[in-house]
Amino acid sequence: MKWQGRKESGNVEDRRGMGSSGKVVAGGGIIGVIILLINMFGGADLQNLTPVLEQMNNGTEQTTQRDLTPEEQLQGKMMNVLLKDTEDVWAKIFQENGMTYENAGMVLFSDRVQTACGAASSASGPFYCPADQKVYMDLKFFDELESKFGAKEGDFSIPYVLAHEVGHHVQTLLGTSAKVRQMQEGMSQKEANKLSVALELQADFYAGVWTHYNQEMNQFLEEGDIDEALSAANAVGDDAIQKRVQGEVIPDSFTHGSSEQRKYWFMKGYKTGDIKQGDTFNNAR
Ligand SMILES: [Zn+2]
Repeated sequence: MKWQGRKESGNVEDRRGMGSSGKVVAGGGIIGVIILLINMFGGADLQNLTPVLEQMNNGTEQTTQRDLTPEEQLQGKMMNVLLKDTEDVWAKIFQENGMTYENAGMVLFSDRVQTACGAASSASGPFYCPADQKVYMDLKFFDELESKFGAKEGDFSIPYVLAHEVGHHVQTLLGTSAKVRQMQEGMSQKEANKLSVALELQADFYAGVWTHYNQEMNQFLEEGDIDEALSAANAVGDDAIQKRVQGEVIPDSFTHGSSEQRKYWFMKGYKTGDIKQGDTFNNAR
């Protein structure tokens, strides 16, 4: 992926230098860890995440401050450029549809972070908090994506995940997320999970649409980038995560979609670049 030399967003808060030391997680225990693992990545499922977040609030912590390494500074610059890319693309798409896009914020953090949705740790993976309209990214997650989840090495898993989280921001602006939460009330868990899957797959679709537009506007793709995105999508499918965590796959408990579904919808967005073709609610595969 090419990113150098483009404009930076300025909507990024870098909190990576503010780490915690000492005992952080007091509550949670084994159940908390399992919930975190199943919730890992995507994080739109904040209603599932909340009990874990609350449990972690019981922990005590001391904040330490350190300087960022040159590598971290370079990564921060790249995240700023990529966030700007999402701002430019979505401003264009919203405008094309007679609407105005409002930028999302981004917080880079390590270890744990306070958000308007509660406290979160790195274990929950990247996520979007609708209450403050910010994307939270711990960049160490991407090392794990390769080492633990078997994604291909490469730099395109980061823009894919960022674009997915910004996709949740788009869903928040369009009112889709609120509508889904409302519909989920009083539903069986199985039915509610189906809607969560559709919401997640649509965020993958939006990530694909963004990739399509950003390629048109900035020619940022390099050989292998789309494969890297698909490999990341494959690695974080619910079936892939469940297989690793519990050794079996239970489709009714999916909240993000299978690896195949996630790849399909990303590619559909990427190939068509047409936001109107992302009705994952009536066309779930
Ligand atoms: Zn998600």
